[in-house]
Amino acid sequence: MATGKINVSADNIFPVIKKFLYSDHEIFLRELISNAVDATNKLKTLSNLGEFSGELGDLSIHVDVDKKKKTITIRDRGIGMTSDEVNKYINDVAFSGATEFVNAYEGKIDKGAMIGHFGLGFYSSFMVSSKVEIHTRSWKSTEDEGALWSCDGSPEYSLDTKKKKDRGTDIILHIDSDSEEFLEEFKINELLKKYARFMSVPIICGEKDERYNTAAEGEDAKWETKKVPNVINPDSPAWTKKPSELTDEDYKAFYKALYPYTFEEPLFHIHMNVDYPFDLTGILFFPKIKPNMELNKNKIQLYQSQVFVTDNVEGIVPEFLMMLHGVIDSKDIPLNVSRSYLQADGNVKKISGHITKKVADKLEEMFKADRADFEQKFKDIAVIIEYGMVTDDKFFERAQKFSLLRSAVDEQNYTIDEYLEKISTLQTDKDGAKVVLYASNKDSQHSYIQKAKAEGYDVVLLDSPIAGHWIQKIEGAKEKVRFARVDSDMLDKLIPKEGERAHLLTDSEKESLKDYVEGAINDKNYSVRVEALASDDVPMMVVMPEYMRRMKEMSATGGGGFMGMGDFPDHYDVVVNGNHALAGKILKSEEPAERDQLILHAKDLALLQQGLLTGERLTAFVNRSLERLV
Ligand code: ADP
Repeated sequence: MATGKINVSADNIFPVIKKFLYSDHEIFLRELISNAVDATNKLKTLSNLGEFSGELGDLSIHVDVDKKKKTITIRDRGIGMTSDEVNKYINDVAFSGATEFVNAYEGKIDKGAMIGHFGLGFYSSFMVSSKVEIHTRSWKSTEDEGALWSCDGSPEYSLDTKKKKDRGTDIILHIDSDSEEFLEEFKINELLKKYARFMSVPIICGEKDERYNTAAEGEDAKWETKKVPNVINPDSPAWTKKPSELTDEDYKAFYKALYPYTFEEPLFHIHMNVDYPFDLTGILFFPKIKPNMELNKNKIQLYQSQVFVTDNVEGIVPEFLMMLHGVIDSKDIPLNVSRSYLQADGNVKKISGHITKKVADKLEEMFKADRADFEQKFKDIAVIIEYGMVTDDKFFERAQKFSLLRSAVDEQNYTIDEYLEKISTLQTDKDGAKVVLYASNKDSQHSYIQKAKAEGYDVVLLDSPIAGHWIQKIEGAKEKVRFARVDSDMLDKLIPKEGERAHLLTDSEKESLKDYVEGAINDKNYSVRVEALASDDVPMMVVMPEYMRRMKEMSATGGGGFMGMGDFPDHYDVVVNGNHALAGKILKSEEPAERDQLILHAKDLALLQQGLLTGERLTAFVNRSLERLV
């Protein structure tokens, strides 16, 4: 029997491992299963190359939990190891990895970033074990050979020869008293489902009951149960297959398998299959996204060669695509690293760019192939596309081709360029800028939409929570294009044309009118101005200026340097139509109390039209109006 001291400089490596990986002890299982799968796949490769000529036989990996002995055994029939290899891979190499880890991070650990994202390979088994044994026999060795390595968590190990009948490796974990939760078979099952559901070698954990019918044909069904191996990963994962091998139903079934508690079906999917210049496969699903819905950003699962890595893909998948669901798998994603390392990794960055490109390709292809269908789907994915356009310049360029604007007047969909073309004749102002009129709510801005329509103008509906940011982006990218919400000013002001309408009032009358209105309203959050509008237009309008409202909206959804704007009091413009008969009536009124009444009533009507008259003021308005009726 040989004993030795594991080649580490930090003597207290195990306490360190335990401490730092504390919140994520469960990953030991992922690490050991991955090793077993690797060892199995290596043997398959040797067999393909003709180097191994024996029987491969059943290559299933077994995970056995023995509650009485307090052990968990992970058993594979892969390449196994000779004593020399155990020395090399377990005593030297693997441990040096652990040592490196401790040296690199001791004292300067960003725990939050690291815990759970730094696997330690084989040695992570000591997080849950008081003793670990490796009983292994290499594919090169004969039947009476075999090696038994054993270590109780101190840097001392023993390495002995011990016969092993079968090829491959048993890792025997003697579970520590503070980790006995892992001796529950359901717990191990749950972890295997999480980490190993899509692995490429069958993983078996205990047995399960299966019902079967023993009745002969024609007889009534007679059900009996039998024990069958409990296979964790019965289906090969959809993303590893070719798109041509899969039907729509297969994709839906896969979605269901990934998210058993989601009842809505995805709208469509993108199947990625790239092997050059890097390896990337996966299926992304577009869910229905309703405006203002709480976004669930932890739906995409990241795999490395079918091994689950994480479902926190921040920094790996472009932010706007985190609203999608599905799976991304790449050999080029490092497995045992911290999140910050993952985000800085060159491959990961390239993958992120590529995913964006693939998504844009697919959307453009769908738009071209069946526009009517795409228009139908667009309203459910508009938020994702707008978000992508705002945050990703490359995507912005691509998405201009298929991002749609919907007219609240003719109910048709237009691409941005189509729309600018449509409005170019009537909605170009005196400086040559095209003005896109928009509404954020068809009902509450109904009267304004009608007015614009009567003028021959069009109005688009922009109701997403990030519309402000999106508009800003388009205005920045397109020359001489301006957006204005349809209720943000008088139409004459929103699209100023050559030749202003004549004022019926003299300058001094305008001054007096302004003073009267200011005096009656008496609120510094309202600025009053007198304009010349058509005499049959409204007598008064209360509007929030476009820039003001947009800043407030953008600060509410974050970014744009407008943080905190949401706390400012609302500020409104009161636009008085000097050409309306009411202006004359106000000016002629000799009784100040009566004049104020007129003004305040007109202002309340204006507020009512904007949906801004609420609560106590609305009640007072209704009562006042009723009094006049009787
Ligand atoms: P990694 O898997 O990242 O290389 P590990 O600490 O998990 O690091 O394992 C170290 C090495 O030990 C592996 O590279 C492999 O050569 C060997 N090894 C581990 N588990 C097995 C196994 N089940 N069968 C054969 N070899 C194994």
